[in-house]
Amino acid sequence: MTVTEQKRIAIIGSTGSIGTQTLETIDTFPGLFKAQVITARRSADLLISQARRHRPALAVIADEGLYNPVREALAPLGIEVAAGEKAMAEAAGRDDVDTVVTATVGYSGLEPTMEAIRKGKEIALANKETLVVAGELITKMLTESKSRIIPVDSEHSAIYQCLVGESTESVNKLIITASGGPFRTFDKERLETVSPADALRHPNWQMGAKITIDSATMMNKAFEIIEARWLFDIEPERIEAIIHPQSIIHSMVEFTDGAVKAQLGVPDMKLPIRYALGCAKRLPVDNGFLSMSDLSTLTFEQPDINRFPCLGYARYALEKRGNSACIINAANEIAVDAFLKGRIKFTDIPRLIARSLDRIPFIETPTYAEYVATNAETRRFAAEQITDLNSQQYPLT
Ligand code: MG
Repeated sequence: MTVTEQKRIAIIGSTGSIGTQTLETIDTFPGLFKAQVITARRSADLLISQARRHRPALAVIADEGLYNPVREALAPLGIEVAAGEKAMAEAAGRDDVDTVVTATVGYSGLEPTMEAIRKGKEIALANKETLVVAGELITKMLTESKSRIIPVDSEHSAIYQCLVGESTESVNKLIITASGGPFRTFDKERLETVSPADALRHPNWQMGAKITIDSATMMNKAFEIIEARWLFDIEPERIEAIIHPQSIIHSMVEFTDGAVKAQLGVPDMKLPIRYALGCAKRLPVDNGFLSMSDLSTLTFEQPDINRFPCLGYARYALEKRGNSACIINAANEIAVDAFLKGRIKFTDIPRLIARSLDRIPFIETPTYAEYVATNAETRRFAAEQITDLNSQQYPLT
């Protein structure tokens, strides 16, 4: 479908950071896009107000306990209301949807993305955990579907833009930039005592809590390396991460003749959202142009795996394959949640992941059911470890 027709969008996770910015983009280009489906996990009030404004055909609340208030508010407007995880996944495959934006956080993005692929939808993928958890499976499904993924993650959008007009054989390596997060310059001792409030203060990007903590541990960059491996079908050795604290270069591609292409822009997710929604076409903007004369310095430094061990887990998972990235993701989700609640230290996050990798059985070629089981088992194991840690019986080392 071309962008001259109105494209019907399903936003899986419309109340989060990417979801709300997607709705703002739809507002900016009402002739091009229509919010056909919106879904939320628990933010019922925001979902209701979004539905009142955008009048989608369907609004889904994943938390079934919130079905009644949402239905009472929206049914009189003629908006269909559904509840539950299954309804959220099914929403991604509806006949009246052209493009699915997977803006939900964590493992929950997997099932709606799979449904969108089964139904041949265009996918604007903002949920990186989908490819982290089950990259091999998703890649295989894509080869059997007319569906295609355009990344919303700013680094992957940058690489996608650099690759336009290039052949796969001419790519030497992908260079993913990282801001380094709020603790870039902290030594190991100082990292032991940082608080959730410190970690939530990202220097460049305004994002949700989970991804902001992932940026502080550099797990976000580890996930992005895994995401790039599957998205661009490139060997892990040819993906490099480099710290670029200004977040102006969103990523680069080095070609076999020594040329390097980079995509630059202000750190604002609206650009990659618009690019993905417009199906790799450039939509005119009314804000956020980069002023080269204001850029006095662009700097680069090597990441330090010793201080940020999460970054190393990407290499481990890509080498080991199987369900190892699924284990890392599940342990990380539990660890980040516990850190945000003040139950574990910042430096316990990588420790908890390492322990989970050590203890959860490895499966070389997991089926979908085995990914689901690995996710559940790892979450249970990691949660138990936190309880034990808090009772100080088994301190994490
Ligand atoms: Mg990113």
